[in-house]
Amino acid sequence: MGVLPFHPDSCADFLTSDELHRIQLHRLQTVVRASYEHVPLTRQRMQERGVKPEHIRSLADIAALPFMQKTDLRDTYPYGLFARPMSDIVRLHASSGTTGKPIIVGYTRDDLNVWTSVMARTFSAVGLNQHDVIQNAFGYSLFTGGLGAHYGAEALGATVIPISGGNTERQIMVMQDFGVTAICSTPSYFLHLVEAVEASGRGFGNLNLKTGVFGAEPWTDSMRAHIQSRTGIKAYDIYGLTEIIGPGVATECEQQAGMHVFEDHFLMEIVDPKTGKTLADGEEGELVLTTLSKQAIPMIRFRTHDITSIITEPCACGRTIRRIRRITHRCDDMMIIRGVNVFPSQIEAALLEVEPTLPHYQIVLSRKEGLDQMEVRIEVTEAMFRDKVSALEQLQKRMEHAIEHVVGLRVNVRLVEPRSIARSEGKAKRVVDQRKEG
Ligand SMILES: [Zn+2]
Repeated sequence: MGVLPFHPDSCADFLTSDELHRIQLHRLQTVVRASYEHVPLTRQRMQERGVKPEHIRSLADIAALPFMQKTDLRDTYPYGLFARPMSDIVRLHASSGTTGKPIIVGYTRDDLNVWTSVMARTFSAVGLNQHDVIQNAFGYSLFTGGLGAHYGAEALGATVIPISGGNTERQIMVMQDFGVTAICSTPSYFLHLVEAVEASGRGFGNLNLKTGVFGAEPWTDSMRAHIQSRTGIKAYDIYGLTEIIGPGVATECEQQAGMHVFEDHFLMEIVDPKTGKTLADGEEGELVLTTLSKQAIPMIRFRTHDITSIITEPCACGRTIRRIRRITHRCDDMMIIRGVNVFPSQIEAALLEVEPTLPHYQIVLSRKEGLDQMEVRIEVTEAMFRDKVSALEQLQKRMEHAIEHVVGLRVNVRLVEPRSIARSEGKAKRVVDQRKEG
């Protein structure tokens, strides 16, 4: 049996813009009506603006609708935004909230089918098929990553290993013995696995691994280059949010040149994060998403806080669904240091310029005598640790200069012993802000 060029569900990636717009408008009208009828908060906000479902006659009319925020899910905890009775809900997930209660999302049977389909399209877009053995190291839990990737990979026809996150030794054993060809995880956890494989004296050359599907945290192009050259695999970026569906909102294709948004299910807009005004295609701003087919919790004009822009040129892969640029920062992960806006991704890019095999690092913010201080703690590798003290001092100076060059601030770099920064098996905690604590 030959291999299909892509999964049958991927046909929706190649619709003409006319076909796509007709599907989008029909679905938008349906989802707006359902929200108006079944979600009190949405109905109240639409009424305040004098907007009725029948006013949505074109896709551009979406601009008349109110935005939704993550706080809306918190304020209506647990089920206040559900548009369907609990008897229709077959699954719940929750976000890993860092403060207070999590946000809870629900799925109907049809919602799960859509999720499975967009994840199968995701895997297909990065070149995986039924011959692949996929090690799914996303956590199987309330977190959407594990089960989202699991069902999509099964629908693709691949062999799925539901190993979940953690237990690094077992991950490596499975990767080696089971002939794993692709892995799903956060990029930081994959780097942790790479370190462990190398520490054990084994190389990536003996493994069958050729593809990494990475998401759930922002990472940079330099990080990708680093992962690819260190392991010889191709590393792909995927994008999703619990509030929208989980993973499966957008994915890179084999071109690795931006992420295709599954526009038949998720309508995207780019808005000015301050004014909420819609920006033209190509301009950088905040991504706003509307779920076009979600039944359990329709999200209309959801403010993602992720900063990106729409790529207007067609992609060499032939997909007609449009792409967004890689998301390297969120409007709310911006750090304000002595009045200067700094993003963690800028620090990472500066460090990678100096040291392409960037070890683990963490940014620590504190306040001394009323002044913001930023310290970047960087673990030196075992090899670097054996270097002369003067070499390490030079490295530290070069890193400080590189950061100052990029962000325009003097920053302390502190080199710390190998493995002295706490590892997370999920998302890496890159920024520790101690300013609020004292
Ligand atoms: Zn493409």
